[in-house]
Amino acid sequence: MMLDSYGRKINYLRISVTDLCNLRCKYCMPEDGISKLCHQDILTVEEIVKIADIFVSLGVYKVRLTGGEPLVRNGIIDLAKGIGGLEGIEDFTITTNAVLLERYAKDLREAGLNRVNISLDTLNADKFADITRGGRLSDVFKGIEAAKREGLIPIKINVVLVGGFNDDEIEDFIRLTEEEWIDVRFIELMPMGEAIGFNSEYFISNQSILERVPALTKVKSEDISSPATYYRMPNGKGRVGLINPISCKFCENCNRIRMTAQGKLKLCLHSDEEIDIKTALRDGKDIEAIILNAIENKPESHHLEDGKYISKDMYRIGG
Ligand code: SAM
Ligand code: SF4
Repeated sequence: MMLDSYGRKINYLRISVTDLCNLRCKYCMPEDGISKLCHQDILTVEEIVKIADIFVSLGVYKVRLTGGEPLVRNGIIDLAKGIGGLEGIEDFTITTNAVLLERYAKDLREAGLNRVNISLDTLNADKFADITRGGRLSDVFKGIEAAKREGLIPIKINVVLVGGFNDDEIEDFIRLTEEEWIDVRFIELMPMGEAIGFNSEYFISNQSILERVPALTKVKSEDISSPATYYRMPNGKGRVGLINPISCKFCENCNRIRMTAQGKLKLCLHSDEEIDIKTALRDGKDIEAIILNAIENKPESHHLEDGKYISKDMYRIGG
């Protein structure tokens, strides 16, 4: 078991497998996309599996693949097989925009993936094309259907609330939880990367959801390290989660660490500090010792509320 210096159990590794994406969400990616990194600058599939294996041997049992868009990574199915086959993994998941999920859901399930989180900010096709700069909503719906068919459940849909864009759809998303066994989680827009320049009216607090939908009642979560507080509609099948990174910190129960596609270990999403695991691995260093030392230095909490934002975009870290 890995404990940090504040006594938190670190058991959850989020791996960003690529910086690239097939969408260009306005708050996340620059309009022109990003330049592709050289092959040798990103971890190979084998290296990612090797590092994940070391983490699992140290006590990690939850692994999530993210990006960029993880499903555009070359070799994603081999990667999923490698991680899905590690002894000791209990929860293997992916965060995806679902555009390619119809194509890959079956292979992912066969590789050992347990479930998916799908990012979807609007249920309106025109608005979807607008916020993603060209995405097709029907692809996402096909992806959701494929995930259901393959039993990659419970499906969680993550909605980033952008004031003036999708706050008029809050009730529609909540209705989904009444009709389907799907959890919908609202995430406050975070002032990082592309979103730093957004005016304050784009940032709306999740609290407004509870004011608008008083029928939501709080449900007890089994997982104290989850950043979401969960609610349910009367007779709701799925739950409604509120994730408030700014207005309500969840650092004290943080159990996660992140690794970027370039093999940098990030101890906190909101810190610029990184530890270069890729170079250490290629130099034949003792990765286990480096990880244990890094965990010792995981920061106690973020300081977003004081205006301490990082400059990196979400697509580089994986959210
Ligand atoms: N491409 C995949 C996807 O969209 O699910 C995985 C990577 S994406 C960076 C992970 C999550 O970060 C998405 O749910 C996205 O909406 C969220 N995200 C990106 N920028 C954000 C921001 N500034 N504030 C809050 N969430 C953000
Ligand atoms: Fe791509 Fe996900 Fe960022 Fe949208 S949020 S641009 S889908 S990485």
